[in-house]
Amino acid sequence: MEGLEKLKRTFQTGRTRGIDWRSAQLRALLRLLSQNEAQIFEALEKDLGKHAVEAYRDEIGVVKKSADHALLHLKEWMAPKKSPLPLLLQPARGQILTEPLGTVLIFGCWNFPISLTLDPLIGAISAGNTTVLKPSELAPACSSVLFRTIPLYLDTEAIKVVEGGSDIAEKLLEQQWDKIFFTGSPRVGRIIMSAAAKHLTPVTLELGGKCPAIFDVFSASDFKVAVKRIVGGKWGPCAGQACIGIDYLLVEQKHVTQLVDSLKLCIQRFYGDGVEKLQNICRIVNRHHFDRVRGMVEESGVAASIVYGGSFDEENLMIQPTILVNPPLDAQVMTDEIFGPLLPIITLDKIEESIEFINARAKPLAIYAFTKNEKLKDRILQETSSGSVTFNDAMIQFICDTLPFGGMGQSGFGRYHGKYSFDTFSHEKAVLHRNFGFELKARYPPWNSFKLEFIRLAYDLNYLALLLLLLGFNRHRQP
Ligand code: NAD
Repeated sequence: MEGLEKLKRTFQTGRTRGIDWRSAQLRALLRLLSQNEAQIFEALEKDLGKHAVEAYRDEIGVVKKSADHALLHLKEWMAPKKSPLPLLLQPARGQILTEPLGTVLIFGCWNFPISLTLDPLIGAISAGNTTVLKPSELAPACSSVLFRTIPLYLDTEAIKVVEGGSDIAEKLLEQQWDKIFFTGSPRVGRIIMSAAAKHLTPVTLELGGKCPAIFDVFSASDFKVAVKRIVGGKWGPCAGQACIGIDYLLVEQKHVTQLVDSLKLCIQRFYGDGVEKLQNICRIVNRHHFDRVRGMVEESGVAASIVYGGSFDEENLMIQPTILVNPPLDAQVMTDEIFGPLLPIITLDKIEESIEFINARAKPLAIYAFTKNEKLKDRILQETSSGSVTFNDAMIQFICDTLPFGGMGQSGFGRYHGKYSFDTFSHEKAVLHRNFGFELKARYPPWNSFKLEFIRLAYDLNYLALLLLLLGFNRHRQP
């Protein structure tokens, strides 16, 4: 690949390892975002119909916050850490040094084409790597803004943007990288992992899945807030084209009518009614995904479950926020990740059944539960597996730099955000400093039964007793 050797050479010079280089790049990224805000807004509007407020909330603001956080903590993250050592190893000193991995490859995703490309880059820069970024070709205007602006602000010998589709992605994957960070579908995730296996390259896979939300709210005021948060979390960020968006909702049968009525009112207030009058909501990214989502609604047996929405504007790739109650569980809308503005609601006799329902499916990236029931919360935490759990809100865990972000099982592996991003792109080197002053003969042949017992004791006894023994043993055996 053109330019890759240059990036590798830059890494070898050690230029990217110093805190000055890392901080300068992060500050330059902040300048890029501030000075090109209008262009980015325009590109997000063009690719996804994303409103400027949503664009700032979910893209520009998120990345600026992450860069500020990294700048604030970089020195502390880079500092060598002391590691306590067992007395058995004394006298000695243990250290953990973080070092950059080398030259890394980052694949962005189209639904948050700025933040899902630049947020991992912040981790790669903070850790001192050189980087190739491949923004998603499915958000071409944003890809082009990144391609044009990044070389104007960041070190071109260390950070390169490569535009293109799957053909280019395949070529990139033929190269040897020190890390591949991928955000996208489980299908492409598998391709990435097999390509990485050839060079034994470590990967972080940020994939998707069906994120459930459990609804168990009774007081009138909490109910109102929960409904707003569900509507904002489901249809707000990129019209449901979000990996941690609520995919389906679980609720007790007796509450479903009240819930659906409140959701409808809230949708109308936020986004308007009818597909032609939709506002403040993104469009579907392209015809392929539009047809995919429409296909879920048109699948036989599903139409009867629609209680709100279900209209499509093919010309403008708009889909009305749509609520379905109890669609068939074997229909695509309940077996595949929706990644669009449909919300199936599944009713249960008892809300506790939601745990079994979730566990019968692939491990989600996120689980949401709107509840004050501490026993239920505890059961969700103890009895389910997922990348994250958020109680009484949706989506906002994404902006929390102090919590790790990542999936489990089908929703991927590895984690990032804040210090976790730094760690994802770093190697923790174990360093043991010993001196020559103390020698334990039992480590060396010739073997005898005394040494066997001594070594057995060395591992079995607690460290303090061992130290006493060691000291005694050495006094007797030293020539
Ligand atoms: P995708 O995963 O199919 O494509 C993403 C990238 O893969 C693109 O850059 C593309 O160039 C590349 N690609 C496509 N085919 C390839 C091939 N054959 N070889 C190599 N590279 C190839 O994109 P999608 O399915 O439209 O994205 C949606 C998915 O992404 C959803 O599953 C969603 O949940 C997931 N996602 C996850 C996160 C997260 O943070 N976990 C965030 C956003 C989206």
